[in-house]
Amino acid sequence: DAKKSGRSVVRLYNDSMDESVRFRRRIEGGLSQAIAQGELSLAYQPIVAGDAMEVVGFEALLRWRTEEFGPISPALFIPIAEESNLIHELGDWVLDEALTVLVDWPGQYVSINFSPRQFRRQNFVGYVMERVQRAGISPNRVQIEITETAIFDNAERAAETLYKLRQMGFRIALDDFGTGYSSLYNIRKFALDCLKIDKSFIDGMGRERESAAIVQSIVHLGKALGLGVVAEGVETEAQVQALRVAGASHLQGYYFSRPVPAEEAKALANERFIGGEDDLDGDEFAV
Ligand code: C2E
Ligand code: MG
Ligand code: MG
Ligand code: MG
Repeated sequence: DAKKSGRSVVRLYNDSMDESVRFRRRIEGGLSQAIAQGELSLAYQPIVAGDAMEVVGFEALLRWRTEEFGPISPALFIPIAEESNLIHELGDWVLDEALTVLVDWPGQYVSINFSPRQFRRQNFVGYVMERVQRAGISPNRVQIEITETAIFDNAERAAETLYKLRQMGFRIALDDFGTGYSSLYNIRKFALDCLKIDKSFIDGMGRERESAAIVQSIVHLGKALGLGVVAEGVETEAQVQALRVAGASHLQGYYFSRPVPAEEAKALANERFIGGEDDLDGDEFAV
């Protein structure tokens, strides 16, 4: 009996392995053609300043729509691309596309996601700088988003890369802050401009005291280190109010806009959302 069930467990396991390997291969195969087939696009989500409630920049988010499956989430295909060299090809496309669009958006900046593997490539600084120069964009209009994983594996080298980027004028954001394994003590060694508080903490804000307390401590930490704090995944008016009172420097989420195509995003540049500074009593923004 045991032997029998043991065997069936092994069989099931193998079948599902086969299936996931097949699935990955299909995604990889599809992705390697995606650029040539014109299946990629960027969606832009506005980033709103917490004090003036004005749109000051946009995060560029990769979209892939296939004829066979329709839209496929980057949460699914980016990790697969990251495990092959495809991430570099995709990353090149994202960077050039975002920079091209930015030329038409005076006064705004674009925030671009880079995976750990992209960030760790040889001469990342030269790579980004060359493309930014070619596009005729000033580096201070480009924010580089990286995750904790990208910098903590080889902290010394990452610190040097970030330092150089910042020297050249790029802004640096630490994405999904709070979900990785950063040591708070080490954060200060990296040349950063802002911390992006992961959506999971924002979600919990109205529900549990713990999330609100974590958000508040990240804002305090940011202030102590001279960093801005961007709240991701803001969906409700209540979250907006709570985050402004807590002193978050920037807000981003469906409450303001979903990620939208470039033409639609352009109409949101410099848009002021109702509820400017006057709505808040007191001087919560005094540091
Ligand atoms: P991320 O960089 O943390 O991006 C934020 C994600 O939250 C985006 O998901 C965005 O659409 C979503 N989001 C924003 N506001 C809200 C909200 O109010 N509610 C909810 N439910 N979601 C919200 P998306 O576009 O599916 O991207 C997922 C992840 O894929 C990104 O997370 C990023 O890690 C990765 N990614 C996306 N584009 C690129 C890219 O061009 N390069 C790289 N390397 N990674 C990318
Ligand atoms: Mg991001
Ligand atoms: Mg994030
Ligand atoms: Mg994320």
